[in-house]
Amino acid sequence: MAIRAQKGTRDMLPQDAYKWHYVEDEWRKICSEYGFKEIRTPEFEATELFNRGVGDTTDIVQKEMYTFNDLGGRSITLKPEGTSPAARAFIESNLYAETQPTKVFYNTPCFRYEKPQSGRLREFHQFGIENFGTHSMLADAEIIALGYDFLNRMGVGDVELHISSVGCRKCRPVYRKTLQDFLRPNYDCLCDTCKSRFEKNPMRILDCKSQEDQDLCKDAPMMIDYLCDECKQDLEDVKRYLDDMGIKYIVDPSIVRGLDYYTKTAFEFIGTGIGTQGTVCGGGRYDHLIEEIGGPDMPGVGFGLGKERLIMLMENAGETFGGEDKLQLFLTWIGDEAKDYAVTLLHELRGQGIRADMDSRERNLKGQMKYANKLGAQYTVVIGEDEVKSGDLTLKNMETGEQTKVRREELVNAL
Ligand code: ATP
Ligand code: MG
Repeated sequence: MAIRAQKGTRDMLPQDAYKWHYVEDEWRKICSEYGFKEIRTPEFEATELFNRGVGDTTDIVQKEMYTFNDLGGRSITLKPEGTSPAARAFIESNLYAETQPTKVFYNTPCFRYEKPQSGRLREFHQFGIENFGTHSMLADAEIIALGYDFLNRMGVGDVELHISSVGCRKCRPVYRKTLQDFLRPNYDCLCDTCKSRFEKNPMRILDCKSQEDQDLCKDAPMMIDYLCDECKQDLEDVKRYLDDMGIKYIVDPSIVRGLDYYTKTAFEFIGTGIGTQGTVCGGGRYDHLIEEIGGPDMPGVGFGLGKERLIMLMENAGETFGGEDKLQLFLTWIGDEAKDYAVTLLHELRGQGIRADMDSRERNLKGQMKYANKLGAQYTVVIGEDEVKSGDLTLKNMETGEQTKVRREELVNAL
């Protein structure tokens, strides 16, 4: 039996490659406009990094990681997200000792053992950005603005921006206790995962995907009503900066980010029309992550944006992804002499940046023409004995059928 791709993984096929290139190019462009530089980190890390950096009460660490021992007996985990590896590199390369903030972006595969469905894969891809080293809400607003602008440029401006605050080490303990008191009478009805979260991280229960738990949480107290003065002011600042930029948002107290290291600002961009996997981008502030994984006490803020979900939203919106690069010229030939001439000419044209091709299956002229059509070539040239001798070529426009005589030396200009 033929071997198939693993469940939850997908091939990017050649006919779709231009879509990926388009979003990747635009992603790099906008990040550079906002002053972010690229960082690339390995596909696997020590498991410990994610246990500490993502947090051992999260879905990711509790049930979604691809973890194995390598032949040297080390516990290795395939990167389930991009923030903790970027933070690890920031610490390891002493970037924290340079002038702050450090603004980085990435484009990375992520691996999570999840139940595959539309918009939910086991290997997926994320665009992300991080701003390390500032407590100012200017950074939070800048990151949100980048996400907002990017989604608009990609033609999916109808996504909603939901923002909230998850508090800080000062105000969260008070809220946590209030929430525990609220949930305690129904403790036995919680799912097993949430039971284990009850002591260590009860806020995560609000984010549980089980409907029963969601129902229990319906009238739960909300963090946003328990914020300390500083966190309240910070949320007001973010909102004001967003207003300054004309960015529309909805304050949504139910936003609970899935990762333990988040503090203060939390946000999501939620798309319409791709069902339950509508969240295309999620992020926020993580003031204790860098310290948690062994670095200095330095704050950070960032987001991750799912590339597959983005492309789904764009397809739904009828986006053309900048169109596919067309083949400009297809060379056909009759006879061996003409074939050699075509090989030389093709090589020359490509050297001058023309997208050109010929038939490497060596079909007859009719077959070559059919193939040129299939490839969507804009122009064709038929090379025979006469053309080889005279250097006078006939360029055929495949769309209009129009034919023009061109000297071989003039070919590049004519195209
Ligand atoms: P969800 O609640 O949908 O599981 P999450 O909170 O786990 O999302 P994050 O960890 O914030 O997601 O990841 C950021 C983005 O990456 C998401 O908004 C989504 O677009 C994308 N993403 C997350 N998990 C997957 C997946 N399994 N397959 C495809 N895209 C994903
Ligand atoms: Mg998830």
